[in-house]
Amino acid sequence: MEEKSRDFIREIIDADLASGKHKEITTRFPPEPNGYLHIGHAKSIYTNFGIAEEFAGKCNLRFDDTNPVKEDVEYVDAIKRDVEWLGFKWSDIHFASDYFDRMYLLAEQLITMGLAYVCDLSPEETKTYRGFASKPGKNSPYRNRTVEENLDLFRAMKKGEFPQGSRTLRAKIDMSSPTMCLRDPHMYRILKKDHHRTGNKWCIYPMYDFAHCLEDSTEQITHSLCTLEFEPNRPLYNWYLEKLDIFRSRQIEFARLNLSYTVVSKRYLRKLVEENFVTGWDDPRMPTLSGLKRRGVSPAAIRNFCSVIGLAKRNSTVDIALLENKIREDLNKTAPRVMSVLNPIKLVIENYPADKTEHFDYVVNPEDESAGVRPTPFTRELYIERDDFMEDPPKKFFRMGPGREVRLRYAYLVTCTSVIKDENDNIMEIRCTYDPDTKGGNAPDGRRVRGTLHWVSADHSFPVEVRLYDRLFNKENPMDNEEGEDFTSSINPDSLTVITNCLVENHMKNENPGFICQFERKGYFCIDPDSTPEKMIFNRTITLRDSWKKKKKHK
Ligand code: ATP
Ligand code: MG
Repeated sequence: MEEKSRDFIREIIDADLASGKHKEITTRFPPEPNGYLHIGHAKSIYTNFGIAEEFAGKCNLRFDDTNPVKEDVEYVDAIKRDVEWLGFKWSDIHFASDYFDRMYLLAEQLITMGLAYVCDLSPEETKTYRGFASKPGKNSPYRNRTVEENLDLFRAMKKGEFPQGSRTLRAKIDMSSPTMCLRDPHMYRILKKDHHRTGNKWCIYPMYDFAHCLEDSTEQITHSLCTLEFEPNRPLYNWYLEKLDIFRSRQIEFARLNLSYTVVSKRYLRKLVEENFVTGWDDPRMPTLSGLKRRGVSPAAIRNFCSVIGLAKRNSTVDIALLENKIREDLNKTAPRVMSVLNPIKLVIENYPADKTEHFDYVVNPEDESAGVRPTPFTRELYIERDDFMEDPPKKFFRMGPGREVRLRYAYLVTCTSVIKDENDNIMEIRCTYDPDTKGGNAPDGRRVRGTLHWVSADHSFPVEVRLYDRLFNKENPMDNEEGEDFTSSINPDSLTVITNCLVENHMKNENPGFICQFERKGYFCIDPDSTPEKMIFNRTITLRDSWKKKKKHK
């Protein structure tokens, strides 16, 4: 069960419901369709949808598509898919661009009220006029235009009569306010760019601060949850709603998710895609939801992760090991076990008949009795992992070595008798004998063996490609760089290792992309969509244990 704790947002909602301020609550998740969703968004989705569910309210999915420059339908579709995949259903779906007419009318209303004006200052001039936190700004020379003049100019702006960037619409608030966002913020800009939904209807577009509160208010969002960087803009959010006297949504900020060894902002992830550091938004190394999905991470693991990190008012960085542990915890319960050999070496059982095949009961998932058992074929010629054998093993090596007896999982105890080498002294084959009295893997006389090895039958396995992934960055905070360096300089050069000719059991041929299993002793793996009937590809989702802790200690 996912645990829900009482955090400051839930406390606010409790109070609003208790006081009768709201009978029902509505939240929203408002991504800008300019990239794919990432694990940071998962926190926001989990919070918004989770809270709505918990309080029997509504949560809308809204595309904040007010900037036609970077947005695209590809992203809209991907975002919908990812939200559904994560396990949430929106009440309504909206596009901010559907409100452009209403926003325009409300802007005219502010002009009529004497609370907005058309300004001809250039961006540089606007900056100098704005002042600093410690220094009041100066009024724009265009601030005192009459209502009629402003309406005329704004309508002409809308018609496309002025060049891009030549004029803006600004709210008339207070150029000396200690709250910087209240120093006559921009409401509209001229942008002669087609929009992926409204086409060429508009050549003026609303600014985020003006648009967002109107979107929330139009949808009667009771609690507008956003990340801390919007806290300074809250007075402006409230100013617009108050002056226009429309539904008052309440903005509440929470800490954004930062994750060690990871970058969680679309604009940086986009750089990784555009500059080919990864193969795409769904590259299994990406912290995007589509990347995590392709890697083999389940929605439940992500939701469990979001649940344990909780909601806080202060920014901090979450250790990626926490996410990795949630992934392991989930897969351990759900993933069927499979025997595969990543780096095969042949093992021949000299005293086992060449024409014989036995089937052993293989426990599909020891954590899930209902998964049952599967018959696994055993023959004279097998493959085992090359590194499960050492010719001259040290004392602590509990695997195979000359003269040593080990267990082949579920099958027999075998003892290595000899090795066959090529002219360069490379071991080509290991020979052994088995003890027929140890069927199932236990000796009747109770003698113990030092190790249990996984294996596949040479006649009942086939070669596949395996992609071993590691963390994409080798620095705890990839954004913390020396001058002149950027975050791509800490990309882990070993984040992907491709190995071919790994062997898996034949029954895996029946599985499809997306299928997740545990390769015994090797980790969790997921069939990649790049697979073809001729060549199956497996992505390593995660190792069975945290190997980074070890690596760090050795440094
Ligand atoms: P960009 O880099 O383009 O600004 P973004 O990653 O901030 O992208 P948005 O589309 O701006 O993504 O965000 C959509 C919603 O998700 C917002 O409400 C935002 O506050 C929230 N969000 C974005 N990143 C995080 C994060 N790391 N942790 C929690 N919430 C996030
Ligand atoms: Mg953002």
